[in-house]
Amino acid sequence: MSVETQKETLGFQTEVKQLLHLMIHSLYSNKEIFLRELISNASDAVDKLRFEALSKPELLEGGAELKIRVSFDKDAKTVTLEDNGIGMSRDDAITHLGTIAKSGTADFMKNLSGDQKKDSHLIGQFGVGFYSAFIVADKVEVFSRRAGLAASEGVHWASKGEGEFEIATIDKADRGTRIVLHLKSGEDEFADGWRLRNIIKKYSDHIALPIELPKEQAAAEGEEKPALEWEVVNRASALWTRPRTEVKDEEYQEFYKHIAHDYENPLSWSHNKVEGKLEYSSLLYVPARAPFDLYQREAPKGLKLYVQRVFVMDQAESFLPLYLRFIKGVVDSNDLSLNVSREILQKDPIIDSMKSALTKRVLDMLEKLAKNEPEQYKGFWKNFGQVMKEGPAEDFANKEKIAGLLRFASTQEEGGEQVVSLAEYLARAKEGQDKIYYLTGETYAQVKNSPHLEVFRKKGIEVLLLTDRIDEWLMSYLSEFDGKSFVDVARGDLDLGNLDSEEEKKEAEEVAKAKEGLVERIKTALGEAVSEVRVSHRLTDSPAILAIGEQDLGMQMRQILEASGQKVPDSKPIFEFNPAHPLIEKLDGEQSEERFGDLSHILFDQAALAAGDSLKDPAAYVRRLNKLLVELSV
Ligand code: ADP
Repeated sequence: MSVETQKETLGFQTEVKQLLHLMIHSLYSNKEIFLRELISNASDAVDKLRFEALSKPELLEGGAELKIRVSFDKDAKTVTLEDNGIGMSRDDAITHLGTIAKSGTADFMKNLSGDQKKDSHLIGQFGVGFYSAFIVADKVEVFSRRAGLAASEGVHWASKGEGEFEIATIDKADRGTRIVLHLKSGEDEFADGWRLRNIIKKYSDHIALPIELPKEQAAAEGEEKPALEWEVVNRASALWTRPRTEVKDEEYQEFYKHIAHDYENPLSWSHNKVEGKLEYSSLLYVPARAPFDLYQREAPKGLKLYVQRVFVMDQAESFLPLYLRFIKGVVDSNDLSLNVSREILQKDPIIDSMKSALTKRVLDMLEKLAKNEPEQYKGFWKNFGQVMKEGPAEDFANKEKIAGLLRFASTQEEGGEQVVSLAEYLARAKEGQDKIYYLTGETYAQVKNSPHLEVFRKKGIEVLLLTDRIDEWLMSYLSEFDGKSFVDVARGDLDLGNLDSEEEKKEAEEVAKAKEGLVERIKTALGEAVSEVRVSHRLTDSPAILAIGEQDLGMQMRQILEASGQKVPDSKPIFEFNPAHPLIEKLDGEQSEERFGDLSHILFDQAALAAGDSLKDPAAYVRRLNKLLVELSV
């Protein structure tokens, strides 16, 4: 053992302590994954070295073959992993093995419930990584040296996983990282060649560099121990370069866990090789679960980029649009240069055509998932539906395709789950219906009971119910689907087209004519509060309703603008009344102009309340209502 200098003891960041605790207590049923995680890190470290060595060949330090070695000592109860990758400096070890840099981690940790079953799912979203070593080890030692640093600048990191770690500077002749796991009592089964080989075959066969184990050989008679020979136990070729037919599902799944740092299997994947003007391979995955930081601007996103099999960068963002930021995967190009940078990627026309091809692949993959595995797609939609809704605004070219992937709550489905596709809606539309009707609002309960739906209920016409914050904005980018236009049922003068019979139309006209006088009286009473007053065709039970002008902003958009501190353009609603309602009949017969005015205002305010809007002058509403109540009780 080399001499240790500058030894100190440091505490883990709080989040690391929490993660460690959680990991040790919730992953015990699948302990063997520690090896997969550590091999995955070693492989990343080798990728990084390979890439940095492109511009600094001296980092290879004479250039032994890049590989990972796993060995064990039955007596000492240790398992050791060694790689000759990029390695860590002392500072690297302190930050990378003592803190979690991911933004939002602290918030994520606050959400842990203490219920181990639930939390182990959460940990899946997070990725387990290096700390999984503590599932099987009660002491972990890391010996490392960053490529390019002097042999005297090695680092020794050691921890029992209980809140602190020791760090010291050591001599380390070879660059790279050696991790020694001191197995907990009861975990010595892992100090076994056969067991380790099986775990490696199971989880890490896809790792593109050789993983070696000591060859099992019997000691010759009289000899103490045979000389150590190593043997490669994995396939050691880049998975995406292999023909699709030769790759098993399990291999795709394990590869996903490696690149996505995910703990769960993906929902679906798409593996393709493109030849012709451009040459590249891509392997794209849809995760099963949304990461906790899906909506954080600075959260990592993008694909792993390789150029001719050489790893070039993580999180290459230029290959997919933002609304597909949850997609994980690899793209390996034969056309790009090895020294490509993020800045170049942003401008390169090659990237543009790759981006549109990859986007299409993802959308095709999602279409297939929706068609073949509707239950899985439901899960997908729950996790990523909100992000997909950003699509039509960002990706004009694929608007129709994205619209086909959207799922909505509807008046025809109980419970408000978003499960109805536009194709399904149209397939069961009423005869003669050439529009897609929808209503937006704050909550499902509010839209479900909205007076705007009365006529639709009466006629049995399905209406899509949109209550996500993003919905009104989304709909402003969608004008039609499959040649049928979208109609907001709370907007403008509702025209049901062929869904109203000639008789109904005629009758409506007659009523409108007969009520012209009442319309004028209400207009005078409400004055500046409304843009228009008219007889409604959409009401059966309620006395009145407020409709939004054809060009005006809806409530959601107004709220979004207000919240972002922008000026909201002034707009006045249209007051529609139901002439058959007893209250309106009463209003029509009202002689006192004062009472007529009060009643009109009360109806107006009630219509606003029913639409989930707030009142401009709530005190006036209460005053008017109380006045009527007093009159009633005398
Ligand atoms: P993640 O791999 O998700 O970043 P980990 O907890 O597994 O998280 O690892 C933390 C960091 O420690 C890695 O990002 C890397 O910088 C460093 N690291 C881990 N293992 C190695 C290794 N074998 N060689 C070099 N660096 C490593």
